[in-house]
Amino acid sequence: MRIEILHGDITARKVDAIVNAANSSLLGGGGVDGAIHRAAGGELLEACRELRRTQLQDGLPVGSAVATPAFRLPARWVIHTVGPNRHAGQTDPALLASCFQESLTVAAGLGAQSVAFPAISAGIYGWDARQVAQVAFDAVGSFSSSGRAGDSPLEVVEFVLFSEDTTAVFRTVLESSPGLG
Ligand code: ADP
Repeated sequence: MRIEILHGDITARKVDAIVNAANSSLLGGGGVDGAIHRAAGGELLEACRELRRTQLQDGLPVGSAVATPAFRLPARWVIHTVGPNRHAGQTDPALLASCFQESLTVAAGLGAQSVAFPAISAGIYGWDARQVAQVAFDAVGSFSSSGRAGDSPLEVVEFVLFSEDTTAVFRTVLESSPGLG
């Protein structure tokens, strides 16, 4: 499994699955969530509403992940996860680690070979990009060394960062991550 850092718009990635930094309602929001819903079209919101009706009446918990089709996006699936919101006192890195781990588990379950992540919680939810990168790479490292990765075809994990600053932070942290960079 290899990690790639890219500067750009995650909605343009032609990978098997892109991860959405959603909120618990799954009914859309700002930032990357808004961009993904705009690019995927109204069917994505319909699919999310259906999930809320059928299995997630109370919303998607922080740290969990769930997949829908990607509709008009070049990707095949969108994996929605809810990052911890620092402004709401959600400061436990284990919650953020869970977003990455659960999303990788869902991606593996879909048979995805490639998955693209944004900097979950590094925008509106107020986490420091450096900490997000550290948690993300640790999660990929522990996923790839765990049994869960053994049966999955997952080959490429991309991090697609919207700003040059965040891209530089992710590259620096990756270079200093033993065994990954
Ligand atoms: P959160 O609420 O989890 O913090 P945000 O969407 O506010 O989520 O921000 C997460 C990260 O996604 C931020 O670094 C933001 O700059 C970035 N982002 C926003 N739009 C896009 C996009 N189209 N592609 C990739 N990353 C994006």
